Amino acid sequence: MSAKDLLKKIKDEEIAYVDIRFTDPRGKLQHVTVIESEVDEDFLEEGFMFDGSSIAGWKSIENSDMKLMPDCDSAYVDPFYAEKTICVHCSIVEPDTGEAYGRDPRSTAEKAEAYLKSSGIGDVSYWGPEAEFFLFDNVRFANTINKVSYEVDAVDASWNTDAEFEMGNTGHRPGLKGGYFPVNPTDHAQDIRGEMLSTMKRIGMKVDKHHHEVASCQHELGLIFGTLTHQADELQKYKYVIHNVADAYGKTATFMPKPIYGDNGTGMHCNMSIWKDGKPLFAGDKYADLSQEALYFIGGILKHAKSLNAFTNPSTNSYKRLIPGFEAPVLRAYSARNRSGCVRIPWTENPKAKRVEARFPDPSANPYLCFSALLMAGLDGIKNKIDPGEAMDKNLYDLPAEELAGIPTVCGSLREALEELKADMDYLLAGDVFTKDQIEGYIELKMEEIEKYEHTPHPVEFGMYYSC
Ligand code: GLU
Ligand code: MG
Ligand code: MG
Repeated sequence: MSAKDLLKKIKDEEIAYVDIRFTDPRGKLQHVTVIESEVDEDFLEEGFMFDGSSIAGWKSIENSDMKLMPDCDSAYVDPFYAEKTICVHCSIVEPDTGEAYGRDPRSTAEKAEAYLKSSGIGDVSYWGPEAEFFLFDNVRFANTINKVSYEVDAVDASWNTDAEFEMGNTGHRPGLKGGYFPVNPTDHAQDIRGEMLSTMKRIGMKVDKHHHEVASCQHELGLIFGTLTHQADELQKYKYVIHNVADAYGKTATFMPKPIYGDNGTGMHCNMSIWKDGKPLFAGDKYADLSQEALYFIGGILKHAKSLNAFTNPSTNSYKRLIPGFEAPVLRAYSARNRSGCVRIPWTENPKAKRVEARFPDPSANPYLCFSALLMAGLDGIKNKIDPGEAMDKNLYDLPAEELAGIPTVCGSLREALEELKADMDYLLAGDVFTKDQIEGYIELKMEEIEKYEHTPHPVEFGMYYSC
């Protein structure tokens, strides 16, 4: 959509505000709201100045002017505001040179797409992220309305199994865990998920399904695949809609990777493919009907998996998910048959749907950085013909200890992932897609999280050591 088209839409639909949205390095969506009368062609084409000094991981106070460049194609009407508001996702440029700001995640995604084209390997990449999430009762809200809630909160259940008993509810209720696809009343979120999906459709997102997930109170909605930057925008909308519909129902949604001890965590499997000259580059006659390029792409992902973890699994909590036994991958292996390795090749007869699924990412990732880093690792694999080795078609969780010991793993902590990133970043710097300054700033930001986490006494430590 051109700036002219967007202005016409604003006029025709009597829009009152334009919400300028951008994403910080941690992946959090930020916004500034501008009254419609201030928005003209210049505003949309030349950009909008703002002070970037208060955004964690960006510029210092002395040098903080930045320009937000709206991407008119990303415009959508906000489904939650009372005043009619159109939202536009923006990239960030330097005000003096007009060049992409090196630490802006959305600009990194745009550069990754341009790099793919310039490499001659492909014209376009497609992304199908599957971001899971948990819905919990908004306890403060539920308690005010009704002390005894039948919408059992899994956090209460896992932390204190006596919680309901203490509240006086001695009646029976459906069990907390009912398998993957149980119908209601075990699945008590049909209407909430339905409203989330319909809201996404109403704002122009391409969606296909919703379902309960394996853990209690865990869910997933289906997004139809799209190109890299566009799909990262879609994921930001996905989270925004989920958080806000949950809030309207007196619930909270969380994308943290492992909110409950002893149950499945929250993944964001990333389905990826590359097309060249209108043809799918990953379809071929090798293992699982993949092409040689697809195998090299997998080789790159597996080789760089540990430094990728810094972007695909960027929270201290991410590493509580990446443990054996909960359908999350630990081992750096690939397979068409089982889901226990880092990379799976989903079965399809249709060459156009041939794709590679990275199973280790989780939705605490900044989607712009996560997709860009995965693409750069895969392209490095194709460029350098990195052999992924033999596929691992046994259930990796059932292998004997000696055999398991020989298979490399993903990182065990965010600290380890940042160390790996420091030692293995050249593939990200190719074509200036990521910048060294950006990666250094990112590591600094993430180290703050690690230190806060490591320096804080943990509730589990009180259980283990308080009376020692
Ligand atoms: N929740 C699992 C994970 O942590 C994935 C379950 C699934 O295959 O959908 O990755
Ligand atoms: Mg899932
Ligand atoms: Mg999947």
